Amino acid sequence: MDDFIATHEAAIRLGIFLGVFMLMAIWEILAPRRRLTQSKSARWLNNIGLVVLNTVVVRIVFPTAAVGVAVYAAQQQWGLFNQVASPGWLAVIVSVVILDGVIYLQHVMFHAVPAFWRLHRVHHADLDFDVTTGSRFHTIEILLSMLVKFAAIVLLGPPLAAVVIFEVLLNATAMFNHSNVRLPLALDSVLRLFIVTPDMHRVHHSHHAHETNSNFGFNLSVWDRIFGTYRAQPDDGHTDMVIGIDTFREPRQCINLPGLLLMPFIGKITDYAINRRRWSKPDDS
Ligand SMILES: [Zn+2]
Ligand SMILES: [Zn+2]
Repeated sequence: MDDFIATHEAAIRLGIFLGVFMLMAIWEILAPRRRLTQSKSARWLNNIGLVVLNTVVVRIVFPTAAVGVAVYAAQQQWGLFNQVASPGWLAVIVSVVILDGVIYLQHVMFHAVPAFWRLHRVHHADLDFDVTTGSRFHTIEILLSMLVKFAAIVLLGPPLAAVVIFEVLLNATAMFNHSNVRLPLALDSVLRLFIVTPDMHRVHHSHHAHETNSNFGFNLSVWDRIFGTYRAQPDDGHTDMVIGIDTFREPRQCINLPGLLLMPFIGKITDYAINRRRWSKPDDS
């Protein structure tokens, strides 16, 4: 089983990615939540271009991916579950939940540290919010997040299946909760007790700083509730709220791939970093 997973990991992930992507893309056409403000074809071309670039770079820099690290950790007997005997199913569930918690904390860190926020702005500067936003991350952020994942795997020693389930789940739920889809409100309120829904994550893409710095979860909604970062709805309502960042509104910069790749290196950090550090004296601003 483990051999099968290790050999076919890339194909399993690509197949599920394409399936969920198509499902959400059709759902967005049939039952959209908001009217898009930008050309969909231009955004999709560039957002998907960034995903392809990231996939190629990650394959080159980390050819064995997270699964390879999990196999190596098992061979070396590194990490909690390679040291402590426990039922396989329990190790899978606990590992998936812990890895999700690590990704939550990493997301908070990408908002809190100014240099990391420079990278993460690329995700937030999307002027609309749809299924392609879910995979739109700067290449350096993707590489750093792989290193965080590798470190977590080495410490945790999760079963191989847990790593693949986690990667597939993270990818699929990111597409789901970034989708421009309308869910019945009653269903949304039940679902968000457990997982992050599109309405819940859309709050995180608001241009208002207090909303951007909330709802950091990607998969399970419990982390925002435990750590006090949960915000139920956007102040301006889902259809009227402004998506994006106030300092980046120029479509050429926020849509075109070269603009996205250069974005971390442009301008000063002024807002949205959680630590609220002032970069000028109060009377200068
Ligand atoms: Zn964010
Ligand atoms: Zn997002």
